[in-house]
Amino acid sequence: HFDLSIRQLRLRYNETASWALDGVNLDLPQGARLALVGPSGAGKSSLMGALLRFYPFEGRIALGGIPLENLGGDEVRSHIAVVEQQPYLFDASLRENLKLGRPDVTDEELRTVITQARLDSYVDSLPHGLDTWVGENGIRVSGGEARRIAIARALLMDAPILILDEPTEGLDAVTANELYDSIAVAARGRSLLVITHRLGKLCSLVDEVAVMRDGRVVERLPVEAYRSRF
Ligand code: ADP
Ligand code: ADP
Repeated sequence: HFDLSIRQLRLRYNETASWALDGVNLDLPQGARLALVGPSGAGKSSLMGALLRFYPFEGRIALGGIPLENLGGDEVRSHIAVVEQQPYLFDASLRENLKLGRPDVTDEELRTVITQARLDSYVDSLPHGLDTWVGENGIRVSGGEARRIAIARALLMDAPILILDEPTEGLDAVTANELYDSIAVAARGRSLLVITHRLGKLCSLVDEVAVMRDGRVVERLPVEAYRSRF
């Protein structure tokens, strides 16, 4: 099982800075679907940075009961898939970009995740389909497409925990709707953590909301209760 447990997590970016995370307690039991909300500067990105072991921290983070420091960075990233706000695309074909986490993947598996990530018509519209160059020297990929490519990658990785960082930021309503569908599929059978400063329609994807402020989780409540305040 892959319960995620965070206790008394503290993080600061240098010795003299104030604490960006100042005693975070948070549980994400396997299969939970949680939104982490809070104003800019509350510590949401820092929390993700600690989880992925980008920054040293104080306190305890455990994944399936194992302290994070006992897991290698690669091991952590094979359990926790992250869809970044601006997913990185390598200077390579779409096929190579999708296979990233799994070099041995078959065309059939690729097709399945492309469908699940709602990328079929996108792939069909490309001049060379999956062999179209999407990186730096390739075609222009929009923000929404890049995120759905990242979701397909996460599906191929088959990680038990999926984290989405501001998934609908900068997207128009139509593009955002396509993304909700692919997130809903990707979240099946996984734990989901959606990080956002504005929950909006993302509330349909989660059951609970944790509110961050000044480096702490100050509240956790069912999504209906959170919505009824607005
Ligand atoms: P959020 O993601 O909720 O906007 P952040 O985790 O980015 O919050 O920020 C929490 C605090 O940490 C803020 O005071 C911010 O200025 C600081 N901070 C974030 N990233 C860095 C960094 N790379 N270097 C120094 N301070 C940072
Ligand atoms: P939109 O107009 O939909 O907001 P953007 O032009 O802002 O799309 O692109 C969003 C992100 O997608 C970029 O920040 C970048 O990370 C990624 N991206 C777009 N095109 C490419 C590309 N050809 N190669 C690599 N990354 C790309």
